Amino acid sequence: TRDEVIALRHQYLSPGILTYYAEPMMIVEGKMQYVYDEKGTRYLDAFAGIVTVSVGHCHPSVIDKVKAQTDKLQHTTTIYLHPTIAQFAQKLASKMPQTSGTTGQPLDKTYFTNSGSEANEIAILSARETTGNHDVIALRNGYHGGTANTMGLTAHGTWRFKSNNPSGIAHTHPGYCYRCPYNLEYPSCDLKCAHDVKNVIEYQTSGEIAAFIGEPIQGVGGAVVPPAEYFQIVYDIVREHGGICIADEVQGGFGRTGTHYWAHQNFNVQPDMITMAKGIGNGAPLAAMTTTADISKTMANRVHFNTYGGNPISVTQGLATLEVIDEEGIQENALTVGTYLKDALLELQNKQPLIGEVRGLGLMLGVELVKDRTTKAPAKEECASIVEHAKTLGLLLGKGGLHGNTIRLKPPMCITQDDADFIVAVLDEALT
Ligand code: PMP
Repeated sequence: TRDEVIALRHQYLSPGILTYYAEPMMIVEGKMQYVYDEKGTRYLDAFAGIVTVSVGHCHPSVIDKVKAQTDKLQHTTTIYLHPTIAQFAQKLASKMPQTSGTTGQPLDKTYFTNSGSEANEIAILSARETTGNHDVIALRNGYHGGTANTMGLTAHGTWRFKSNNPSGIAHTHPGYCYRCPYNLEYPSCDLKCAHDVKNVIEYQTSGEIAAFIGEPIQGVGGAVVPPAEYFQIVYDIVREHGGICIADEVQGGFGRTGTHYWAHQNFNVQPDMITMAKGIGNGAPLAAMTTTADISKTMANRVHFNTYGGNPISVTQGLATLEVIDEEGIQENALTVGTYLKDALLELQNKQPLIGEVRGLGLMLGVELVKDRTTKAPAKEECASIVEHAKTLGLLLGKGGLHGNTIRLKPPMCITQDDADFIVAVLDEALT
């Protein structure tokens, strides 16, 4: 029973493991965009696990391929050859749109890990090895993981431990126009936030940069979409100081923004490395860092090892997921339903004064709640209670943002317009 699970959890699981909701939810079954609790109650999962279930819970063709692989070879490691890791790496390379802005080479060398944090660790390590520099620039309000270094990249006190103090990381402004730190308006601001990376480099680093890492659209930070030119300016300045540019596509990749396969393509830039996780494997413990021949070469003389990275089950699930994205028009659906949903949310904003801003692209949307549209005081408690209330109406939402006041809508990308109508109707009722 649910009570027994709660009792076991208290007794045997670390209290550090976060659960959502005052009454934590138990999920026993998943079917495409829906999950079911122990009583059989159905919920629309508008947060897709945590932006992990890209093509639908227990998608039949993903599950069939994983079952077949499990029967054939359940495990081996990268010290042996196995077919799927090679096929999957080839498939990922075929999805890389541009060459690296630094080396001019294609991004076609992949290193597999089990989590987004590890992918970002290997990216930073590779950048430091390649450039011989140590300092890294990340974005305020960003999230990059829970390991020692990636906690340092993550610019949010909520996710930090005072005992952990990684060195050589400075943070710059992310292009969060709704809360512009300079109180300026786009475009007359002249992208001051982007140009400011020059000052960050000058005042807070040695001046010689190993890497810049940024989520093209911030996920945990609340679907923050910077102006179109933002990343071009930042990438140029970082490269002038010797740095490699990393796009963290852990949440924004695999068609979620609808317009493009990768979120960074919305900003017309050519990263030198892409890190990915979550939606890459529809919920499998699978992640990767893809880069160029020259950059990946720096790791060739070193021994670096990841026991489960690229294991047969995870890469089979990854390959099957990417095939579904292609075959079932998942990216196109993210654009169509995402645009429909965003328009409806903008309409709702006219009626619901708590909505300060609706933002995002495709099915990566955020609704920032404020107590007052003029002062923009964050409506954090209201946000939490709306997320609770929506659950009682059969809708699971994400929450996040700098002040915990942004509702995050990132459902499995197979949702329909009817589901979008349901999301808006529930939000309307909860907001009222
Ligand atoms: N990067 C981003 C953008 C993320 O959202 C996350 C997870 N929320 C991570 C990295 C870390 O991924 P993981 O939890 O798989 O280590």
